[in-house]
Amino acid sequence: MLADRLRGIEGSPTLVLAAKAKALAKAGKPVADFTAGEPDVPTPAHVKRAAIEAIEANRTYYTPVAGIPELREAAARHLNQARGTRYEPSQLLVSDGAKHSLYNAFQALCQAGDEVLVFSPYWVSYPPLVQLASAKPVIVATREEDGFLPDPAAVRQALTARTKALVLNSPSNPTGAVIDEGRLKALAALALERNLMVITDEIYDALVYPPAAHRSILQASPELAKQTVLVAGVSKTYSMTGWRIGFAAGPKEWIEAMTNVQSHSTSNPASISQHAALAALTGDQGCVADMRRQFEQRRNRLVEGLSRLPGLRCQKPDGAFYAWCNVSGLGQPAGAIAAQWLEDALVATVPGEGFGAPQHIRFSFAASGETIERGLRALGAWSAKRGGKACRTA
Ligand code: PMP
Ligand code: GLU
Repeated sequence: MLADRLRGIEGSPTLVLAAKAKALAKAGKPVADFTAGEPDVPTPAHVKRAAIEAIEANRTYYTPVAGIPELREAAARHLNQARGTRYEPSQLLVSDGAKHSLYNAFQALCQAGDEVLVFSPYWVSYPPLVQLASAKPVIVATREEDGFLPDPAAVRQALTARTKALVLNSPSNPTGAVIDEGRLKALAALALERNLMVITDEIYDALVYPPAAHRSILQASPELAKQTVLVAGVSKTYSMTGWRIGFAAGPKEWIEAMTNVQSHSTSNPASISQHAALAALTGDQGCVADMRRQFEQRRNRLVEGLSRLPGLRCQKPDGAFYAWCNVSGLGQPAGAIAAQWLEDALVATVPGEGFGAPQHIRFSFAASGETIERGLRALGAWSAKRGGKACRTA
């Protein structure tokens, strides 16, 4: 009875595994949880205060579908300042998280017969989001030797007459790769030449560790703005994952079409969350720098610790908050290893299968220093118990 376009689509594995780890912790197990892609630090106090004030001032009614004008304006300014783009508030659509922004984009802009290029390893939701719009995800592999950076020549090879769009995600979830100016320019040139739509997901733009720096494809090629949807939000930058606010910027006509999709599905995002997001974008940005510094230290500690474990290979990510470890040295697929880590060592991670990469396991280092130390100790003991050899067979 289910719709054909749902074939093969399951729940987001990151969310499923994060829920499983949380349930174990609630049941009293000392699980070291590296699953969730969300900062463990609280939402900044001034943001929470703005939400409380919004409730007390009765800003609790429907708002315009695309978001309150002040927030659209603040989001446009926020994106323009960092990228030199020239978005007007009318080119911004505020949605229920960046995932919803992406959903609206694919629904409004793709259809049956369209092919959408997605680089692997990919964030788990890109292929299902494309399929939910009846279009076809076409996976273009990146290579570990290239730091998981996209190869414009591989993109050219994947092009067909049906190629409609290209999805970029820099910094990347799960690899942490930050795409450099040269590759962005080459990808932009290709997109312009073939009139491809570009969906650039820059949700981790504020989480890049020096000397790396975030660069948008719209800085590398401002003229590409006419065929690009830029997606960003407050979930990661301001530790606001539960508030559900993301935004998309793009050509006015496209944003209007996406707003129509939203107007018939979810209407405006929660009014209170919008006021909180406004405070986040317009308030003191010190909290962002603090979080970035904390995450940088945790990254260094986690990657160093994981690299010492036999059978694991882990590059230091330039951005986002994930350590992406090659576990092929352990002799079993990632899913089997992650299951053993959870069962035998109470270490919860996300195996790479859902990211199109069955030899890797993702650790989120948006976890406390204490969790990182406990997880490393548990994995060290697990590894020692096996004499540093490959795992038992399932
Ligand atoms: N894009 C990427 C690459 C992500 O990792 C996430 C994480 N959830 C999202 C989009 C969606 O963010 P949000 O929570 O704002 O929907
Ligand atoms: N994006 C985060 C992650 O990859 C949150 C979970 C999700 O939205 O799938 O863990």
